[in-house]
Amino acid sequence: MAGTTTTMAGHVHGYCACGRLRYTIDCSNLDSDLTLSAFCHCSRCQRINGAPFVHSLHLKYPAVTWDPKPEKQSGDPPRAPETGFSAQVETYESLPGKKWKLRCKTCGSPMGTWNGERSKWTIWPNTIARKPTEKTSGNLAEGPFDIPADILPRFKANHHQFYGPWRTMDVYDGLDKFVGYKDISQKVDDEGRALDS
Ligand SMILES: [Zn+2]
Ligand SMILES: [Zn+2]
Repeated sequence: MAGTTTTMAGHVHGYCACGRLRYTIDCSNLDSDLTLSAFCHCSRCQRINGAPFVHSLHLKYPAVTWDPKPEKQSGDPPRAPETGFSAQVETYESLPGKKWKLRCKTCGSPMGTWNGERSKWTIWPNTIARKPTEKTSGNLAEGPFDIPADILPRFKANHHQFYGPWRTMDVYDGLDKFVGYKDISQKVDDEGRALDS
């Protein structure tokens, strides 16, 4: 799929493992559109991604568009994804009427979540297109790679959430850690011991 998309300034592209499901993040209003960047250790993220924790971005509805585009849109933003999302998206309703997990219909890559209640996307930025450091032979989906240099650092996670007793590893990285969401749950140290605040 190389060369099918032109990267515009202020846009970041991402794609699944097979390259059939792609998305674009419009970064022109990132200050307002990016509402969270964290490592999430909740057991739902662990199971969906098959990983001890996952890097999670929360983005407001207008910032993310999918390719291929939806055939027809059921409201703007769509309350439920069935008719509002790309035909290449497979959905799993994880919280009835509120949240849907999104995967590529062909390769099954987990891509994120639609929160219909808050009109927000979760994007797992492990799927963002970046220039590979080694040759990735056999990879169908390569490029575009010219991500604006100032944008990737802005996506960096700045804390850990749901860092409770269910986590499967301790992380010694100096970032703040919380048992639930940041600032509204118990703050803990790298080994999960409660801190004053
Ligand atoms: Zn795929
Ligand atoms: Zn989670």
